[in-house]
Amino acid sequence: MSTDSILQNVKQKYSHQPIFIQTVTEFLESAGPYLTFVNATDEDYKRLKGLLIPERIISFRVTWTDDAQNIQYNTGYRIQYNSALGPYKGGLRFDPSVNEDILKFLGFEQIFKNALTGLPLGAGKGGSDFDPKGKSDTEIRSFTRAFMTELYRHIGIETDVPAGDIGVGGREIGYLYGMYKQIVNKNEGVLTGKGISFGGSQGRTEATGYGAIYFAAQMLATIDETLVRKTAVVSGSGNVALYAARKLIQEGAVVKTLSDRGGYLVKQEGFTAVETDFIESEKSARKSLADISIEGATYSEGSVWIDVQADLYFPCATQNEINGVQAQAIVDHGAVLVAEGANMPSDLDALHIFKGAKLLFGPAKAVNAGGVAVSGLEMSQNASHLPWTAEVVDQKLREIMGQIHQTCVQYGTKDDSSVDYVDGANIGGFVRVFEAMKGLGW
Ligand code: NDP
Repeated sequence: MSTDSILQNVKQKYSHQPIFIQTVTEFLESAGPYLTFVNATDEDYKRLKGLLIPERIISFRVTWTDDAQNIQYNTGYRIQYNSALGPYKGGLRFDPSVNEDILKFLGFEQIFKNALTGLPLGAGKGGSDFDPKGKSDTEIRSFTRAFMTELYRHIGIETDVPAGDIGVGGREIGYLYGMYKQIVNKNEGVLTGKGISFGGSQGRTEATGYGAIYFAAQMLATIDETLVRKTAVVSGSGNVALYAARKLIQEGAVVKTLSDRGGYLVKQEGFTAVETDFIESEKSARKSLADISIEGATYSEGSVWIDVQADLYFPCATQNEINGVQAQAIVDHGAVLVAEGANMPSDLDALHIFKGAKLLFGPAKAVNAGGVAVSGLEMSQNASHLPWTAEVVDQKLREIMGQIHQTCVQYGTKDDSSVDYVDGANIGGFVRVFEAMKGLGW
């Protein structure tokens, strides 16, 4: 058996799941040479085949009532991908694009990301094709409560601990947890990203964006560079993008852009922290960037990657937001670093261009692992009934991002001393999960 034959099998069997095939291809491009290098046995290849299959896929109907008293239906999902290292852990996404393909891709990525944190976290992902856009607060509440009415029977602190993702922020987690508590009559903190007053951790909201910047700083340090006075393009204007932008500004970088589904805002001299706060409050009120006015900033519907030159690029919106042409434009702009805040924002063409170029490329599995890492810290605080201060959580986040960087260097350093962070993250995460699966007799 070989990784080539495993990939062919996946391509045939799941030809209807192109995004899942994409993430498996990317992973096997790193795992294949590694397994050859360590003289993997046939049993190892069989175990790898097993790793690609989720332990459990749950799909259910969600019935809820809209404000006009109409009954509405959506499909809910939870993919419990791998529990070798601990309870399934990963976010819930509410977006009309959600389907089994997208959730399998996200769940598969989560295996290696969670392993990289060094915490006892298995991997899962879930969500619904429910579209939160344009919904009233009552409708969001009605939907989330209906969603939990089914999900609750599949989750638990030692089984599966969901969190947020696109379309699921603090408000939705609060409503989901409120319903869970009412059903099971337990205060076990089964979701992470909760409000501070009911068991949430300091620093969880900020963790993914801040963690991404801590990781980028470590990457830059390998070439004796810092974030100070570097120009940055950030895509997205949600949780990850805004906290990445804030941390960049704090560290002395110049954040030129933020984007949404419609287009991007560009301010050549950089947004201020106050302006990012303003954008956050406007986006929370479901406004589009096209309707948000910032002095000195202009709005465009073009491609931020092609149009805007910067030293650093942080895709923080969604999967496949950078294609090959756009990646080449980023390289031609003379970028020093690309760090993926979103999950798999670079398609395979883009990935190959970044890997072949002379720039630092940080893959999502490593760069955005800070969110799940602080979720793991939230679980520890819930289990011990002792909340930690923001300073303690931030210090631990910095340490974990530093350890992940170290793991990438360990497994990704090439003969010419350069670091391939894609190989480093894939192999570093894989080795930990694989050892656990072996030890468990799986
Ligand atoms: P949010 O819902 O808070 O924000 C998503 C942002 O991306 C919004 O600005 C949204 O635009 C934009 N966006 C969404 N879909 C598209 C699209 N198809 N095209 C262009 N722009 C789009 O999500 P998060 O910030 O939480 O998540 C962003 C990414 O980070 C996702 O890939 C997620 O999986 C990943 N991630 C998130 C973590 C977390 O802790 N939240 C942890 C690890 C990874 P609009 O405002 O128009 O909707």
